[in-house]
Amino acid sequence: MSRSLRRLAARALHAVDRGLAQATLGDRFEGGLITFLFHGVFLPGERIDPARIDPYQRTTTADLEVLIEHLLAAGYRFVTPDEVATPGLLAAGDRCAMLTFDDGYANNLRLLPLLSRYRVPVTVFVASGYVERGEAYWWDVVHREGVARGLGAARIEAEKRRLKGLPVTAQRRALIDAYGPDALKARDDLDRPLTVDELRALAQSPWITIGNHTVDHAILTSQPPDEQRRQIAGCQAWLQDVLGEAPMIVSYPNGNYDAAVLQAARDAGLRLGITTVPRRTPLPLRPADALTLGRFVIDDHQDVVERARACRAGLNLRHAALRRRRPGY
Ligand SMILES: [Zn+2]
Repeated sequence: MSRSLRRLAARALHAVDRGLAQATLGDRFEGGLITFLFHGVFLPGERIDPARIDPYQRTTTADLEVLIEHLLAAGYRFVTPDEVATPGLLAAGDRCAMLTFDDGYANNLRLLPLLSRYRVPVTVFVASGYVERGEAYWWDVVHREGVARGLGAARIEAEKRRLKGLPVTAQRRALIDAYGPDALKARDDLDRPLTVDELRALAQSPWITIGNHTVDHAILTSQPPDEQRRQIAGCQAWLQDVLGEAPMIVSYPNGNYDAAVLQAARDAGLRLGITTVPRRTPLPLRPADALTLGRFVIDDHQDVVERARACRAGLNLRHAALRRRRPGY
């Protein structure tokens, strides 16, 4: 299909979904848990130097305010993973929402004033090895070094795709071979991980739940079984050591999971697991859903309120299509 045809099809699908949202919002259709996935947190109008930083999402504190106010006005309440997992607390028909932030970017500290103002809890999923080593996330290194070498966007994306599926040690080796050991050091305040002290400060907030995002942001389905276990259990142990408490929820990097991954999560004591499958999770929580909660993404170019309405809606064709595809965050 040509690009203009694809654009036309996407616009048509969008229009249908807008109509479906209009028709399937309200008491008959809504209810359950809707969860949103974010990564970094930026300030409105903040300059992001494209030569250094390429965030998946440029979510600003203002976007989050719009989303929070929209959901509160629509009768949603923001819940913690603990509340979701507590039997008897949430009932069918309850409108619940969770906001989650993956990776553990230092800029997530910017959430704190907003959360206390709205009294909204969020979950931050930390890749513990990055925090421990103070290293830039590998995909940010590929971007920064790729731009510095004059590679175009397509080649940088291809390199990210190539590295994504590698076992963790091979991926690290490839980065050091290509860019040198110093390239892994975090440089920018905008895309570095939390320091250990910052993580402790964040975890102190009554509005923050810290979750497991593996040690090395490993795509778990690409790792052998013992490495899957090491990635999940190692993150649990490190966070227990640093924060005095191990997480009860895990976010699978890139959304990839399989039966062995779920078993490894269960064995590590995790009670909830979260994917990137765009679906609402029925309430009260069914045991079969506990380790595969759905989650929605709001991308840069999307209107926050329209996206929120699509996620609340009883029916959405784009989400239905995405549910059949491989995950990608
Ligand atoms: Zn991640």
